[in-house]
Amino acid sequence: MAEVADRLRAATAALGGVSGTPRLDAELLLAHALGMARHELLLRQRDLSVPAAFDGLIGRRLTGEPVAYITGTRDFWTISLQVTPDVLIPRPDSETLIEAAVEHFAGRAPETILDLGTGSGALLLAALDQWRQARGLGVDISPGALAVAADNAARLGFSDRAAFRMGDWADGIGENFDLILINPPYIARSAPLSGDVLHEPEGALFAGAEGYDDYRRIAPQLPRLLRPDGLAAVEIGFDQREGVSALFTAQGLEVGVRHDLAGHDRCLAVRACPSVRQDLQG
Ligand code: GLN
Repeated sequence: MAEVADRLRAATAALGGVSGTPRLDAELLLAHALGMARHELLLRQRDLSVPAAFDGLIGRRLTGEPVAYITGTRDFWTISLQVTPDVLIPRPDSETLIEAAVEHFAGRAPETILDLGTGSGALLLAALDQWRQARGLGVDISPGALAVAADNAARLGFSDRAAFRMGDWADGIGENFDLILINPPYIARSAPLSGDVLHEPEGALFAGAEGYDDYRRIAPQLPRLLRPDGLAAVEIGFDQREGVSALFTAQGLEVGVRHDLAGHDRCLAVRACPSVRQDLQG
């Protein structure tokens, strides 16, 4: 029966106007309507028929609603996360932060991890999946986001290694950490936006006139939070390397940069200054 193939083709054509990935979106929404994974749908499509709910899901996508909010899930690194409109949808770009951490800790593992602005918990929980002995703290100012993150930790079986706390960046946090992961809001207030971001929480996206407001809050907190041989992996906008690096180097920190898959500057790899690291070795 060609029903699945035909309906996917028609849905892909319809979604071309609202999405940069219409075929993928159609497949993810049909798999969701069938209650199966996308790869299962693709393998079994000749034996399947299209459930009535599919049209409704495509209709929601046609209004611009992001696929991840319709299906309620998004994959990130090695894990699958529940997402709601209370949280930013995890992006593949942000996996650059985990890559930076994997490189930094080559041959050893971070024991303690801090995720500032944890949202869905994506970065913290991906790191806890990567390093199975590590423990972590996720901080967010949004109670709705913290509920999503705690739920994700429980679903992944990480509740005993993950704690969550409401907070305004690192205010009131006295501990220090081997690995700090931060994907703050960094979009300039006046930036013209389209697509999924129009449906995402503003508090997770915008950071003042130029997008630097939250980096300015975070930078002075990092020296006390970061262990001497630790790493802070900080997401940045593609054109923010110089501006954000300067905020961290002004705190005596050392900064490297990592690119995302598109080749854009995406992650600052922030370490303690060389003299602090040398004291550790000596
Ligand atoms: N990377 C996101 C975007 O450009 C923004 C997320 C953020 O501000 N942290 O859509």
